[in-house]
Amino acid sequence: MNRLLKNSNKYFFHSIYIEEGALNYPITKNIIEKYCNSNLIIIKHYKDVFNRTNQNFSVQKQNQSLILAVKSKPFVYNGPDVCQNFGYSNFYYTSFLLNCIFDCEYCYLQGMYPSSNIVAFVNIEDFKSEIKYITSKESVFLAASYDTDLIAFHNIVPYLDYFYDFFKSLPNLLVEVRTKSANESFYKTHKAIDNLIVAFTLSPDEIIKKYERSTPSLDARIKAAKTAISMGFKVRICLDPIFVGPDVDSFYEPFYNYLFSQINPNDILDIGYGFFRMSKDFFKRIEKIRPNSLLFCDDYSLKDGVLSYPSNLQEKIMKKHYEILTKYINEDKIFSL
Ligand code: SF4
Repeated sequence: MNRLLKNSNKYFFHSIYIEEGALNYPITKNIIEKYCNSNLIIIKHYKDVFNRTNQNFSVQKQNQSLILAVKSKPFVYNGPDVCQNFGYSNFYYTSFLLNCIFDCEYCYLQGMYPSSNIVAFVNIEDFKSEIKYITSKESVFLAASYDTDLIAFHNIVPYLDYFYDFFKSLPNLLVEVRTKSANESFYKTHKAIDNLIVAFTLSPDEIIKKYERSTPSLDARIKAAKTAISMGFKVRICLDPIFVGPDVDSFYEPFYNYLFSQINPNDILDIGYGFFRMSKDFFKRIEKIRPNSLLFCDDYSLKDGVLSYPSNLQEKIMKKHYEILTKYINEDKIFSL
């Protein structure tokens, strides 16, 4: 099990690195107090540790360190084409954290970052200023947890507590927080707000066991989604990434039927649906890190620099899946890439 999940103050993180400039921020003070038995190391800049050469992403993942840092501009980015915008043309994303406590085999972060240590940015007021600025000009859809899992990290740094009133105060903002976590504490301690969507990424249990190491089971995620629904939160179901192959195709029909035997489809906002896809550059890097992964041995098609299943295969599988999904939910509530 990932050491981050162990409930031990002393061994929670391998080490905690703190930028000199981050020392006086409230988040830093809370972390120092909470993990007082950890190995604390003061550094000049997070990139001195995070961007070191010759780091092994997979090995480091078993023994992650935390790095507290001050982010410089930009705080908000334009949403990339490989991510769903759910019909919103003004689509942005932000990252309070770099990396994630989970260890999904298909995670593109392995190809994006040189390190699997977690960087937590402490200057949240700067993020707020930029978000406020962009929403003063237009209505915005903001993905706040694409590159990480904020809900899974909530017991370490509760970013959603810090941003709750702020998000609530911006009528021009719609925020999506995507998660695989079973942590229910946020939904139990906050009232639902209209402009916040909690998007639960769900997969058949066989896929979770195969590719989503150290994440909660399907039932644990469904339980958390039901809690969020019962507390009035807008809940999106993300069926993404979908995998294709003789060994996995049969998992999906029973999974969809089970999912909607547990969650009333009328209680969810919509569904995001997308096949496994990855930029060619990230794919090449991950192939080297995970030489034994069958996922990175499959044959994919290349289109606009992105590798995914051939489009005729995607169409065939998607048709089959939509036939099942539309028994439960209108097609206009299913967003696919
Ligand atoms: S939960 Fe998402 S961000 Fe975290 S490891 Fe899995 S794919 Fe990556």
